[in-house]
Amino acid sequence: MNIPRSNNPRVVIIGGGFGGIALAQKLRKQEVQVVLLDKNNYHTFQPLLYQVSTGGLEPDSIAYPLRKVLIGYDNFFFRLAEVIEIIPEKKLLQTTIGELFYDYLVVATGSHTNFFGNTELEKHAMAMKSIPQSLNLRSLILENFEQALLTDEYHERDALMNFVIVGGGPTGVELAGALAEIKKGILPKDYPDLDTRRAQINIIQGRDRILDAMSEQASKKAEDFLEELGVQVWKNVRVTGYDGKTVRTQTDLTFETATLIWAAGVKGATIKGLDAKELIAGGNRLSVNEFNQVIGYPEIFAIGDIACMQSEEAPRGHPMMAQPAIQQGRNLGENLVRLINGKPLRPFVYKDKGSMATVGRNKAVCDLKNIRFQGVFAWFVWMFVHLFFLIGFRNRVVVFINWVYNYIRFDREARLIIRPFKRNYDQFRD
Ligand SMILES: Cc1cc2nc3c(=O)[nH]c(=O)nc-3n(C[C@H](O)[C@H](O)[C@H](O)COP(=O)(O)OP(=O)(O)OC[C@H]3O[C@@H](n4cnc5c(N)ncnc54)[C@H](O)[C@@H]3O)c2cc1C
Repeated sequence: MNIPRSNNPRVVIIGGGFGGIALAQKLRKQEVQVVLLDKNNYHTFQPLLYQVSTGGLEPDSIAYPLRKVLIGYDNFFFRLAEVIEIIPEKKLLQTTIGELFYDYLVVATGSHTNFFGNTELEKHAMAMKSIPQSLNLRSLILENFEQALLTDEYHERDALMNFVIVGGGPTGVELAGALAEIKKGILPKDYPDLDTRRAQINIIQGRDRILDAMSEQASKKAEDFLEELGVQVWKNVRVTGYDGKTVRTQTDLTFETATLIWAAGVKGATIKGLDAKELIAGGNRLSVNEFNQVIGYPEIFAIGDIACMQSEEAPRGHPMMAQPAIQQGRNLGENLVRLINGKPLRPFVYKDKGSMATVGRNKAVCDLKNIRFQGVFAWFVWMFVHLFFLIGFRNRVVVFINWVYNYIRFDREARLIIRPFKRNYDQFRD
């Protein structure tokens, strides 16, 4: 990899997500050599992926070059590489561009979409965990309408305009709200020769309320907002399969659709060599102690979505969200310096700042530490928080301008099929 050996210990970080970047920033002025590895050369701001999928934002505005994060950092190296295997006994990584030794290793690989072992769903459903997947979804949504124009067959047309989202967490709710706004504000203008009133947006939730990680008040209000927007919310329904045409559930309920979007869960993105059964806790995550050390490996750490830190306050680990990743990255940055200097480590304490979700224009729900609110103010708070955490000044400006423009014009101009998604439409014709 052409990375020189230095006298300082080498810290290798796998993953330039929220956790990896927060850690790198903390190590900036320390006497360590830092190597950041990522399979992409950019950081993805995942909370806004749904806006890329629905044409509200360009993908570039939610991505940020990882090399730019490290500009001006001494003793920092970035390599575009996917780590294939970790060999802890040799302190060695196997990657797509060669081998690399580490003194300390930090796994910050985030998570993958979890289809819970259902290969049929994995094959036919659309996931939304990365920018390429969001672009696929954007293309598919638009291609469906183009295709709907071409058929005289009612059932086929309805299936093309029927969107089924599985998962009633923030991602599912935000996506459903955005699709409902497209149906109302954009489709009638773009497709005047198509009866777009027949388009349907369904959200399927396995539990008895949507946004079930938030307060009941937030769930109730979000459901009211979705109903106002014409989204059908199905609760206590579990999807059991989808063959690319019909969604099956554990009940008699079925849906004919060309688009099933899977937002029903994620699992830790483990790497071969550090994936033995005894290392794995809930959600396929690496079991870590209060210092983010992987159990049994004092020189290997895991942070963010991939880490499961179980405690009395968090018996199932911390939520797989941006804040735990950022806070763990910062705490570990300080701890690595302490470790190298032979000082005692400080345990991680999660500061829960609350959670929020937006359903659409002027519609959001916020559960902050001491206060809960919904509606227009919550929507402004949601926008402010997302702009604040977005990486890069240019991105913040571009996203802000886009939001103002979309708000004033009721528009989403990025409804472009740049890279067509190859869908087999033949199955809707029988
Ligand atoms: C659609 C969506 C919406 C979300 N909305 C919210 C929200 O509103 N609020 C919130 O708090 N959280 C939200 N989240 C969750 C949040 O994005 C994650 O919790 C957060 O990104 C976790 O940070 P991380 O650093 O652990 O991993 P990530 O940010 O996922 O970063 C992992 C990095 O590791 C790299 N990587 C993975 N494997 C390898 C490998 N083998 N080799 C090299 N590189 C590798 C990846 O390319 C990636 O850059 C959302 C997630 C999704 C998918």
